Amino acid sequence: MAEHPIGEWSIDCSFPGGNVRVDGATGSHVWLSPDQRDSQGRWFYWCFRVRAASGSQMAVTLPAAELIGARGPAFSLDGGCTWAWMGRGCVDGATFHFAIPTWSTEARFAATIPYTQANLAQFTGASSGRDLWQRTVLCRTRRGRVVEALRMSSMGEGAPLALLVTARHHACETLASYALEGLLSGILAEDEIGGWLRKNLDILVIPFVDKDGVEQGDQGKNRMPHDHNRDYFDGLYPEVRAIRSLVPRWSAGRPLVALDLHCPWLGGERNERVYFVGGPDPGQWREVKALSTCLEAGQAPVGGLRFATADNMAFGEDWNNGFDLEMKSFSGWASRLPGIRLSSVVEIPYASANGQEVNPHSARVFGHDLAGALAAYLSG
Ligand SMILES: [Zn+2]
Repeated sequence: MAEHPIGEWSIDCSFPGGNVRVDGATGSHVWLSPDQRDSQGRWFYWCFRVRAASGSQMAVTLPAAELIGARGPAFSLDGGCTWAWMGRGCVDGATFHFAIPTWSTEARFAATIPYTQANLAQFTGASSGRDLWQRTVLCRTRRGRVVEALRMSSMGEGAPLALLVTARHHACETLASYALEGLLSGILAEDEIGGWLRKNLDILVIPFVDKDGVEQGDQGKNRMPHDHNRDYFDGLYPEVRAIRSLVPRWSAGRPLVALDLHCPWLGGERNERVYFVGGPDPGQWREVKALSTCLEAGQAPVGGLRFATADNMAFGEDWNNGFDLEMKSFSGWASRLPGIRLSSVVEIPYASANGQEVNPHSARVFGHDLAGALAAYLSG
């Protein structure tokens, strides 16, 4: 979208992760909507920038109240480096209000706290132990972007166990990436847990399955004719074809744990809990429970997201009810790989989890807890 001037100031989304449509404006009141692009139906992701609006009182109206989450919009005043939730106090139905400080030259607002390639580059460049990563190219996207596959193991193919972690099959599910950072930090940590994981696991991580969608700010969810997490039967997308080709060769029949990190959607009590999603295989569901029990018992007393095994979603419950989904999704595909011990989706809420705030810090702590749980579960 080109820059859209509104009086003295302007709105645009011409940056990684940007997404908005400007529907109208009167004075400092603007009407915006999420750009659905090639997604079927309506999804909620929007993320835009306001410039030259220092000292302005803004009112933003979206098409529906459901497009603003449990803790209000997210905002950034430093060019998207740091974000916080605005809270619900500024929200009235589908409208939110914001006073841009006089010192601010640029403000960003979004339905969620964004996470793009720049965030991952910052994390992998700054994290201690970064030399332990083997950075490989999974494939190139249809737009020519590199999809990275991170691999880590001190034993390589000699490691007795294999761990595969994927995220952003659905581009807009940004908080999952902060949890992934926490998980990677736990694996890299110079402590007993990190040491055990690196020694015993061959770890393969695909941080952005739908890299184009992440960078373009697409919804990703319900992309037509189907999205990346419904593509494991057809193999329409190069990323999915590359995963289907690489993973069986890499895991080579070793005992394998496959976790696919997601966020649910805005609104609804069920979406304000962290949970694992089960498949139809009762043996793998028992393994999910064993991992969950370790996670529940070992979670950080403060700072993370409270997780309860009882919140997990068994196969047949709620939306998790289709063998059709099982045939087409990543987790269903991975659940049929040789050596698989468990394949599951982890759903991480956007803004609220059992009453606690979900933000980059708490999602990272949760991911770190997940690393500890994997060590406890796999070493038990
Ligand atoms: Zn998802």
